[in-house]
Amino acid sequence: MDERRYREAMGTFVTGVTVVTTLNNDEVHGMTANAFMSVSLNPQLVLISIDRKAAALEKIKKTRRFAVSILADTQEQASRHFAGQSQEIDVDVFEWFHDFPVIHHALAHFLCRVHDIYVVGDHVLVIATVLHLNRKEGQPLVFYQGSYHHVASF
Ligand code: FAD
Repeated sequence: MDERRYREAMGTFVTGVTVVTTLNNDEVHGMTANAFMSVSLNPQLVLISIDRKAAALEKIKKTRRFAVSILADTQEQASRHFAGQSQEIDVDVFEWFHDFPVIHHALAHFLCRVHDIYVVGDHVLVIATVLHLNRKEGQPLVFYQGSYHHVASF
């Protein structure tokens, strides 16, 4: 099947946008990801799907810890930056949550420990236990058909 048609069809599925952060020997790394979901309530488990070629993957495998920040509608620039599409970035883009770097002003933060890793096709599914979370008020950044959107109202 044609890859472009597959991407276009999948693009009709509306998602939020996250940045996955890792901490490795004091080095912080961020990567934009929208393949994020909850897989279990009890225990609380989440899943991220990461390209096998992404630098973030080796860091997660090594430290077995990562954080997910759900971006607010004001954070399109951060999404572009951590997708490698822009050099612009706020100087205070990170804040610390339980001694772990997360994206400042995001709508929610999840601090996670790796539970299972599955190689599937050209991606790797990382299932992780949620250790800590927090939530702030605000509107989400939305990704639909390859573009960023804002929610008009709920
Ligand atoms: P790099 O490409 O090296 O890093 C990403 C960018 O972040 C670079 O510009 C780097 O300079 C910057 N950066 C990293 N750490 C820091 C830091 N500490 N301070 C300042 N800048 C830093 N890919 C997936 O695998 N799964 C997904 O679910 C997914 N969803 C996406 C959703 C959207 C909306 C977009 C736009 C992209 C998505 N991608 C996804 C693609 C992914 O974000 C890019 O391929 C990304 O470049 C892969 O990151 P990397 O770990 O290889 O690191």
